[in-house]
Amino acid sequence: MNRRTAIRATVTAAAGLAAGVRPGSGLGVPAYVGFGSESTARQPVPELFIRGGTVVNADMTMKADVRILGERIGEIGPDLQPGAGARVVDATGHLVMPGGIDPHAHLQGGFVDDLTTGTAAAVAGGITTVGTFAYPAGDENPLEAMDRSLAEVERLAIGDVFFHASSWPPTPDFAAMMPGLAERGQPSHKVFMTRADFGARRGALIEVLEAARDAGVRTLMHCEDGAMLAAALERLRAQGRTSLAHFAESRPEVAEIAATQEAVALCSFTGAPMHLVHLSSQRALEAARNPAFGDLPLTIETRPLYLYFTSEWLRGPQGPLYIGQPPLRGAADVEAMWAGLLDGRIDMLATDHAPWTRAQKLDPELNIARLRPGVSDLRFVRPVLFSEGVRSGRITAERYVEITSTAAARAFGLYPERGVIREGAFGDVMILDPERVHEVVADDDPSNADYTPFEGWSLTGWPVMTVRRGEVVYEDGRVTARAGSGRPARRTPWSADARGPGSPGRTAP
Ligand SMILES: [Zn+2]
Repeated sequence: MNRRTAIRATVTAAAGLAAGVRPGSGLGVPAYVGFGSESTARQPVPELFIRGGTVVNADMTMKADVRILGERIGEIGPDLQPGAGARVVDATGHLVMPGGIDPHAHLQGGFVDDLTTGTAAAVAGGITTVGTFAYPAGDENPLEAMDRSLAEVERLAIGDVFFHASSWPPTPDFAAMMPGLAERGQPSHKVFMTRADFGARRGALIEVLEAARDAGVRTLMHCEDGAMLAAALERLRAQGRTSLAHFAESRPEVAEIAATQEAVALCSFTGAPMHLVHLSSQRALEAARNPAFGDLPLTIETRPLYLYFTSEWLRGPQGPLYIGQPPLRGAADVEAMWAGLLDGRIDMLATDHAPWTRAQKLDPELNIARLRPGVSDLRFVRPVLFSEGVRSGRITAERYVEITSTAAARAFGLYPERGVIREGAFGDVMILDPERVHEVVADDDPSNADYTPFEGWSLTGWPVMTVRRGEVVYEDGRVTARAGSGRPARRTPWSADARGPGSPGRTAP
């Protein structure tokens, strides 16, 4: 390979276009973005022309054609003409929405998905960018874990991927790595308040939070109080009540409320940008949006389990299929999650995709101390919310876009390159047919999880095509891109003065 061929190959790979050859274009070689001044090295930039659809962004809806040139959106407007050789997609009667951004999914560790099957499930569900975790393996430090994880994307992923670092206990070494996370375009890390030693290490954590703030790194918090969880477990053990039937009692709501109060206090005290994961209860939400703390750099997610299921579902032999942390709550909590998503106190819906098989979830060896928490929902989160939220009249299509894409883009430093359909942004698009009626079947999910909590639900409104950086990655029920066509999603660090990217993406009620 001579130097120019090498550059071309690099550009092709970096642009993620290797699999982006248009069907029927007759090109036997990958298209690539022109490079340098040599005219012989230039090829036309591939064009994907989406005609006649209704473009829905978080702040407006309009009938418009969308021209995607290479990886980015080139033009939006009524009655555009496709360029020569463009692939034209007829979106008449369909909604053209920004690709989904899910900031919280588990695609590593003991779960049954990896970056390939997990992002395949994502793109099949209209999600083009997924946030997951870079856990250290062996004696790796968090930056080494991040570098390894970023390299895996270009080998395995179909969607684009970003990573949250994770480390415990909080140490000065980890605090010193915060600028390194920002330099890698991955300014976020996660803390589990569930750890039994969390309370003992608050002083060290404050130093980590201050370093994170200074480097523009957002801290994700799993809010359940570790000491309370440990004590609840001990009580149940002493009573011999350790089966999964007692799961909800092993993680009482007060543990979530207490940890949420503490997280918000730490956010206020340090000024560090914070994101509360999988908030589940009305009283935890009230604690999180406590007016006593004023305006904080705080974003909040809830997840599908808490929008559609109550603790009733944990009963009976199938109950373990619905176990997640925190547990399912009551009907008033479900209503509070919807209300929070509507009025902006909850910023976004994230999946917490945690895929297991049915047999793993129903394993008789499991108990309240040995769990497999979580469910697979990358594939169905957007279709279910469209049907149950937009079609049912609970939320507008614009708010739907905001809570499944734009708000996460803002909070995690991806906006305005992602999370919005605008000129210059990446060509990340979900085309949704709002009239298509179809039943949820686990077999339609590319995830290795073999069940879904939504099995058998009849939904109105399904994604019919997903475009990731200008490449059609899902079409006609099939994932059409190759593993390794995904790319790390580089992010901008949070900044205290910017009220745009990275600042809290709250919408006024
Ligand atoms: Zn999680």
